[in-house]
Amino acid sequence: MKLANEIGIASTHLEALSFNPLELGVIQAVRQNGYLSRTDLSERLKYSRASLTPIFTRLVSLGILTEVGQGKSGGGRPPIMLGINGSLGYAAGVDIGATSIDIALADFTGQILERCSEQADVRIGPKQLLSRVKENLIKLLSKRGAGQDRLLAIGIGVPGPVEFATGLLIAPPLMPTWEGFPIKEEMRRSYHVASIVVDNDVNIMAKGEQKMGAGIGLDNFMFIKIGTGIGCGIISAGEVYRGSDGCAGDIGHICVDAEGPVCHCGNRGCLEFVSAGAAIAQKAVTGVQEGKSQFLADRIKAKDGVLTAKDVGEAAAAGDRLANEIVRESGKLIGGVLAGLVNFYNPRAIFIGGGVSNIGNQLLAAIRHTILSRATALSTIKLRVEYSELGESAGVHGAIHMALENVFIKTN
Ligand SMILES: [Zn+2]
Repeated sequence: MKLANEIGIASTHLEALSFNPLELGVIQAVRQNGYLSRTDLSERLKYSRASLTPIFTRLVSLGILTEVGQGKSGGGRPPIMLGINGSLGYAAGVDIGATSIDIALADFTGQILERCSEQADVRIGPKQLLSRVKENLIKLLSKRGAGQDRLLAIGIGVPGPVEFATGLLIAPPLMPTWEGFPIKEEMRRSYHVASIVVDNDVNIMAKGEQKMGAGIGLDNFMFIKIGTGIGCGIISAGEVYRGSDGCAGDIGHICVDAEGPVCHCGNRGCLEFVSAGAAIAQKAVTGVQEGKSQFLADRIKAKDGVLTAKDVGEAAAAGDRLANEIVRESGKLIGGVLAGLVNFYNPRAIFIGGGVSNIGNQLLAAIRHTILSRATALSTIKLRVEYSELGESAGVHGAIHMALENVFIKTN
């Protein structure tokens, strides 16, 4: 076992951050709670203080855990609390969207220290896009005066179906050139001491909301991302639920209109094809051609014929009738599918995020109204339907926490 101050020069992170099952149990309990006293840990892990004492001593001397001050006294001397040593190394969260990269660098407690974002089209291909990610990570590390060998955990979210165990994208509609590309291996060429996890973008957003946003303290909720497509991240019994193959929550291709238009997946009337960003913009263009909105006609002219869901949202906020109808219709379609999911899964909350969630409260109101009027009474009594608290930051927060969850591993 190497000492913490040597971790940066360990040949692989596995040597430095692998522990026996009881040590790992202590580390994960502390990590999940932020900080715990030695007595708390003894109670949670159901081991005597005496048997855990050598483990505490070892983890503190290795610099994995650190004493972070005093807790509340139960009558006697206030207990010393143990937390993860934030300066153990760095963790990065990388949120790759269809048209953007958002990257954050955090300490080992998950607190974000540096951040950057840039426009990037995933269709340029994995090699080129990941080389931009790597360059940005070097920049963020150098702002902290740190080299690449101090980055020990990287979490990456991508907008497509991911086989979690391998981190490979399988038949991703938005990014076909990424099919089967070894993202982890490509990143490991530059960050060979880092532990790397890759997951679907909406799973990491759900994780972010659970750890840092409106989902704190909730064990069962859904995070809905509405953007170019529609996806659902599921937190079940406190964990991300991925299903058998990693694609649980792919709700964008649930059929809402058997006679509807043909989606890019080849089926008719898929939820995302009739209600997400592109559909909202397309309905507005059609409405303008039919002379239904002067506001949007002016907007199209000002933007050389290009209209986005954001324009429709702004028109709705300005009171435009066509825009309001379009936004409400999307909300009803999405709410109808979510009502079925609420009956099926009985979550405590649904948080709505993604680019299209910025188009105003009409969308949320329509989604909420449809869910409450269509789902069963018991499943909706305590149900919260809200916009994500973290908004565009949900992805990087979730990627960091997912990376930190997986960085400490069991010795073989
Ligand atoms: Zn489809």
